[in-house]
Amino acid sequence: MELNRRDFAKLGSLSLAARFAPALNAQAPTKKIGYAVIGLGRIAGHFMPGSRSTTNSQITALVSGHRDKAEKIAAEYGIPAGSIYNYENFDQIAKNPNVDAVYVALPNSMHAEYTIRAAAAGKHVLCEKPMALNVAEAERMITACKVAKVKLMIAYRCHYEPTNLRAVQIIRDGGIGKVQAIESAFGFNMGPNEWRTSKKLAGGGPIFDVGIYSLNACRYLTGEEPEHISAYASTNDHGDPRFAEVEENTSWTMRFPSGILATCTTTYGANMPGYFRVYGSKGWLQVDNAFVYEGLHLRGFVNGADIDEPNPAKDPSHFQAEAEHFSHCVENNLEPQSPGEEGLRDMTYIAQIYKSAGIAT
Ligand code: NAD
Repeated sequence: MELNRRDFAKLGSLSLAARFAPALNAQAPTKKIGYAVIGLGRIAGHFMPGSRSTTNSQITALVSGHRDKAEKIAAEYGIPAGSIYNYENFDQIAKNPNVDAVYVALPNSMHAEYTIRAAAAGKHVLCEKPMALNVAEAERMITACKVAKVKLMIAYRCHYEPTNLRAVQIIRDGGIGKVQAIESAFGFNMGPNEWRTSKKLAGGGPIFDVGIYSLNACRYLTGEEPEHISAYASTNDHGDPRFAEVEENTSWTMRFPSGILATCTTTYGANMPGYFRVYGSKGWLQVDNAFVYEGLHLRGFVNGADIDEPNPAKDPSHFQAEAEHFSHCVENNLEPQSPGEEGLRDMTYIAQIYKSAGIAT
């Protein structure tokens, strides 16, 4: 089942926890919010076409260390040569009236620096997850954006994705009864020579990159914050250069104030398609491919009946919804559903996971 825009907007107006309800523009936007994309890697390659599919967002500038790559993309998006920046002259973006916001799509270690520089340039910030390397950086980012009076949103695209929203709605409506337990996992077999295996650039292992989806999902599915976390980490492939600096596997259990227990696993050593399964007193639900760009599939036993709802939406629909939401917030001076504080909470829980697993941060 694919939720169309009207269904999606209806979901937002239902009883979802306030911080997990998408606010979509009911009226046509008066202008398109212009984005400067910083870092032209893989995720930027999804965000840019996603923005182009919206009615309220456009790519108006690029920031890259590779001029040739930037020029090719600029030609595709009609971006003038004067709106291509590099990491040194990035601050001149302050003078570019066509840039309202920046999209930070850099390795994790660069999120704080470019968010703070963008805020100082007076630009709103949409920053990729994980928000930063640690709690202190995340706090600095929030402060910088508050001082500059610009908006900060963390790109938790599942907060704007219809199948994830439908799972939340079913749970909030009591469709599976009282939730008792959640299982979730997300991991993949990491290739060689990736910045993700550098502790300095990534902050740590798979919890920073993909485990964070399970962590965040358990929080939006329960609508609660974990009160206790206990974790293990391991590296099975000893001597493998991918794991010289970061751990290979992490599993953790969270206890929520209502008593819900959530068990999650993440890895860089095996392909582990992202999913969550929620067990309630009257039923269950599961979303397969819950955290990837397409192929999401909701199944379960809900309100006394079997449900089976594949979502046919294709990439880059998640990015379209995310850009639409942030542009709408910028244009209408609204707080995004996944603000900096949401990213900060996950940084806090990752720190607790590392502490419990005995990993130095
Ligand atoms: P990537 O390696 O494909 O791209 C990173 C970009 O940063 C490249 O353009 C690279 O040239 C540039 N860069 C600048 N300085 C660099 C340096 N010192 N080392 C390496 N690259 C440098 O990475 P990606 O997969 O696009 O990830 C970027 C960010 O997006 C990460 O924070 C990641 O967690 C996040 N991400 C989010 C999603 C999502 O679905 N929301 C998916 C993938 C990645």
